[in-house]
Amino acid sequence: MNYLIKGARPLGGEPADILVEDGRIAAVGDSLDATGAEVVEATGLIALPGLVDLHTHLREPGREDAETVETGSRAAALGGFTAVHAMANTDPVADTAGVVEQVWRLGQEAGLVDVVPVGAVTVGLGGERLAELGAMADSAARVRIFSDDGHCVADPALMRRALEYVKAFDGVVAQHAEEPRLTAGAQMHEGDRSAKLGLTGWPAAAEEGIIARDVLLAEHVGARLHVCHVSTAGSVEILRWAKSRGVQVTAEVTPHHLLLTDACAESYDPVFKVNPPLRTDRDVEALRAGLADGTIDAVGTDHAPHAVEDKESEWAQARPGMLGLEQALSVVIETMVEPGRLDWAGVADRMSVRPAAIGRLDGHGRPIAPGEPANLVLVDPAARATVDPAALASRSRNSPYAGRELPGRVVATFLRGVPTVLDGKATR
Ligand SMILES: [Zn+2]
Repeated sequence: MNYLIKGARPLGGEPADILVEDGRIAAVGDSLDATGAEVVEATGLIALPGLVDLHTHLREPGREDAETVETGSRAAALGGFTAVHAMANTDPVADTAGVVEQVWRLGQEAGLVDVVPVGAVTVGLGGERLAELGAMADSAARVRIFSDDGHCVADPALMRRALEYVKAFDGVVAQHAEEPRLTAGAQMHEGDRSAKLGLTGWPAAAEEGIIARDVLLAEHVGARLHVCHVSTAGSVEILRWAKSRGVQVTAEVTPHHLLLTDACAESYDPVFKVNPPLRTDRDVEALRAGLADGTIDAVGTDHAPHAVEDKESEWAQARPGMLGLEQALSVVIETMVEPGRLDWAGVADRMSVRPAAIGRLDGHGRPIAPGEPANLVLVDPAARATVDPAALASRSRNSPYAGRELPGRVVATFLRGVPTVLDGKATR
C-alpha cells in the first residue's frame, strides 16, 4: 500500500504533500498525484521523522506482567516512535548475544517499532566483570549502546575498560550516573523538601561526581560516553564544560525531569518515585536550557513500567520508575515548544536525529526528503487531552501524568511506509 499524506507541515514549515511508496518517501511537494495511493488528510498536522528513544524498559524477558516487547512497542508507536532502545536490566539480563538476539527477534515479530537492544556492560549487571560486549556487537542485534542502567558502573577501572572495549566497534557506554555509596536508602532528592518530609535524600553530587569522572575517562581513552537521564543543574554545567573541551560525550533528559519537581513527593504518591529523583525548579530550568542549547542532546523517556504491586505501596517500598513513551512528545511540546524554547526542527533533532546518531541507527532520524525511509510521525499540535492511565497501551499504569491535561496528539506513525498508528489508534 502506498500513501499520500496531504497538507502536513514537515518540521513545522510550509504545508506539503508527502508521497510514500514502497516504504520510502517518493516525493515531497505541492498537489502531488494520489493515483493508487491511500490519502491521509493531514492539514494542520506537523510531520516529523519517526521518534527514536534511547532509553526504554520493555521488561521482557522476565517481567511480562509489567510490559512485553509487544505492548511496549505499541505504546512507543502511539507516542510517535519508530525505534526504541531496550534496556538490559531484564531477567535474564541482556548480557549475552543470545539474550539480545531474543529481544531483537521479539521486536521484529511485534513489528510496531524497531526494537534495538542495549547490552549490559557487566555480567548480570553485577559491576564486577565485563560482559561479552564484542559478541553482542557482532550479533544479529548489532548492539552499539551498552549500559548497566538501573545500576551505575561505579568501579572507575571497569568503566575505563568498558570505554576502551566499545571504542573498537564504535560503541558507546551509557552511564546511569549514581555513586551508590552516596545514595544508600535514598528515597527522593536531597534538599529542603526531603528534610521536611523525613525521607532519605539522593544528593545531586552523587550524579555529578560520576559524570565528572566519566567525561575525564572518556577524554583520556578517546571513547564515546553517553549520560542517561541527566537530572541536575550541576550535571548540565559539567556536560557543557566537557563538550567545550571536545570530549565525545552525549546526554539525555527524561520528559518527567523536564516537567515535574520534588514538590510531587509531598503527595507521598509513589507514582512520583523515580531514579534519579525529581529535582528542584532550578534544576528543571537548567535542564530545559540545556536541551534548548544542545548541551543535552536528546530526550530519553526512561519508560519504566511497573506492576501494580510494585508501585501501589508505601513510598519507601515502591519501585522507582514511571511510564514515558506515550506522553513524551506531549511533555516536550508543553515544556519546550509552547514556551518557544525549541521549534519543530529542534524537536526532530532532539527526539529523532541525535538519538539515532548516538545509537548509530541507519534509516532513522533522516530528513523528510525523497529517497529516505518513510519513518514518519504526524502530530496535531492543537489537540489537548487529559491523561487517563487506563487508556494507555502499556501493560502498566504508573503514569505520573494521570489527570493532567497535555498538548499534542500523535495522529499517525509510519514505520518504513507501513502505518503503525492511524487516526490516533494502533493498527496492530
Ligand atoms: Zn537509569
